Amino acid sequence: MCLFCKIVKKEIPSNIILENDDFLAFHDINPKAPVHILAIPKVHVDSFNEIDPQMMSKMSAFIQDIAKECKIEKSGYRVITNIGENGGQEVAHLHFHVLGGAKLKWGHFSDADPEGHF
Ligand code: AMP
Repeated sequence: MCLFCKIVKKEIPSNIILENDDFLAFHDINPKAPVHILAIPKVHVDSFNEIDPQMMSKMSAFIQDIAKECKIEKSGYRVITNIGENGGQEVAHLHFHVLGGAKLKWGHFSDADPEGHF
């Protein structure tokens, strides 16, 4: 069973801020911003590649609820999902990072030539 499935089953403790029948939101253990929440589906989905439109629609509403719960919906925030190796995904259970609480920087994403792929 994967790490986040264990968190869903409460076999591993987490600092939960929001939960419904389908999703769970909890504090990232290694926060990158004053607010850093992870939103996950309770069923195992490997990554964004496998999410279906119905789940994505419900997830969008859930993320909006997280922003309200954390009182960052007006100040602004960022939603990120890392996909696969190049995306930097470390936990193979779909999760959305919700980051805010301060002005976020726009990162340095890659040393590769941005003109190089197509
Ligand atoms: P990613 O690199 O997109 O797969 O992100 C995985 C995230 O999960 C990282 O930001 C980790 O800090 C976070 N993380 C790993 N283990 C835990 C845990 N037990 N509780 C909360 N967050 C975790």
